[in-house]
Amino acid sequence: MKTDFTHDYRKEIEKYAAIDGNGWLAEAFSRTTVLAYGFSRICGVYLPFLRLALIKPDECEAVEFGTIVHELRHAWQCRTWGITKYLFKKAFQRRKIEADAEAEELKAVEWYAAPLAVYTAV
Ligand SMILES: [Zn+2]
Repeated sequence: MKTDFTHDYRKEIEKYAAIDGNGWLAEAFSRTTVLAYGFSRICGVYLPFLRLALIKPDECEAVEFGTIVHELRHAWQCRTWGITKYLFKKAFQRRKIEADAEAEELKAVEWYAAPLAVYTAV
């Protein structure tokens, strides 16, 4: 089982956060500890009381990057709504908060993978 990230994503997170509409990521990243953790089944988890995002390492950098952005979106949700409302939504409106995090994850994966696609298409 992979125990660490394929890559150090700090620079990419900074670059991605600088894009219009992604400013939330810079703040979420600065307030959250992101660690690689070898889960067996889940891809990641955000622990609001510790402000800790645990991410399952993957062979694919774009996937790892997407999972980091997904969990940091939960950090942002928690910061925006406050911990009580976040936990309430997590319990009773899970689909809604996951849909939001998944949308951000997808955008991030596409962004991360895009330069590779450009070069390999030539
Ligand atoms: Zn999630």
